[in-house]
Amino acid sequence: MLQAFTADHVFPVSSPPVKNGVVVTDERGEIQGVYTKEQFAAEKFSEKPVLQKYSGIICPGFINAHCHLELSHMRGLLKEGKTLPGFIGEIIKGREADKEKIEKAIEEAEAEMIANGIVGVGDICNTTDTIFQKKKGRLRYHNFIEVFDIVPSKADEAFEKGISLLQKFNETGNTGSIIPHAPYTVSAKLLKRIYEHAYTHDSVLTIHNQETATENEMFLSKSGALFEKLSSFGDLYKNWKHTGFSSLASTLAHLPRCNKTMLVHNTYSTQEDINWAHLYSSVIYWCFCPNANLYIENRLPDFHTFINSSCRIIIGTDSLASNHSLSVLEELKTISANAPFIKLETLLKWGTLNGADFFDWKKDLGSLEKGKRPGINLITDVNTATLALTETSIVKPLLSR
Ligand SMILES: [Zn+2]
Repeated sequence: MLQAFTADHVFPVSSPPVKNGVVVTDERGEIQGVYTKEQFAAEKFSEKPVLQKYSGIICPGFINAHCHLELSHMRGLLKEGKTLPGFIGEIIKGREADKEKIEKAIEEAEAEMIANGIVGVGDICNTTDTIFQKKKGRLRYHNFIEVFDIVPSKADEAFEKGISLLQKFNETGNTGSIIPHAPYTVSAKLLKRIYEHAYTHDSVLTIHNQETATENEMFLSKSGALFEKLSSFGDLYKNWKHTGFSSLASTLAHLPRCNKTMLVHNTYSTQEDINWAHLYSSVIYWCFCPNANLYIENRLPDFHTFINSSCRIIIGTDSLASNHSLSVLEELKTISANAPFIKLETLLKWGTLNGADFFDWKKDLGSLEKGKRPGINLITDVNTATLALTETSIVKPLLSR
């Protein structure tokens, strides 16, 4: 049975928006085509689908490129505006909780993502906590197995722990890769193990990047609030050597330049950082989690600079420890409110097709194109005259995957 959906505008994302467009799918949600109103009226379907009319816009399902589903029980636990060094200590304390509470929060957070029109997730994993939920197959995931240890002599141990965690996550039927946490928590030796594994398996990489100004300060001069916070946990950082370069330049040089690499946050990345990254690798993706940036540092990346440098931009929600919701639309609304010069068409591409491209999910997700099953979202309360999101824009999935 064919189904047809229409709204004020349809955004296939892979092609320009269609005013009063119509999306036709089969009963499984596979796209049969996107038509203008006139084309739809003239098309000879085997059976004429009943047209479901909505006000607002229609777009494909969202890709949440950066999440920590296992931290969902920490919703509302940490105070806003503590800055990253303050946040680090709190998160270590706060993640301890009983199994039942952790699992219930994971289940609810995943349901929240589905209700918010998300169809695919890049999820950071430090524990086995989310495996039970991922086995249910309700959402597509790429599991980023996160490893960290700043002491070079412990690099092998940290890496092997990551390998055994990855093997457990492989049972969920999702893809996965081993990735470093952040420039300031991994040794060059550990990065070498990650490099070799990613290179051999042709896997995608990600790393938290320049989330706080003091991250650069640490690499430039072995000082600042982040360095002091990390040093307060013992003498782990006593023998750590700063490079005299920004944290991004210092770390990226240890990662393979031919593997797709997603840099997350980039709140304090400069034009020089972007130039350097693009010179080093042609497969860099820049992931923004603006609501988490506001939650922790009360600052946003300079979107203008990234756009002018032709960056491939994707969107993440980060975790419920540092965000009020897991919604790609809420992230896009924040960007739109702070950078109104960015067109809705561009924002939607960041939240759908670019993420699908990073994870190699483009074959069936990311755009409304014939043969794909990307999920179909309706966004209401959009300013249809200027084609812009508003403060009250809401997403409702018309078809999940
Ligand atoms: Zn994160």
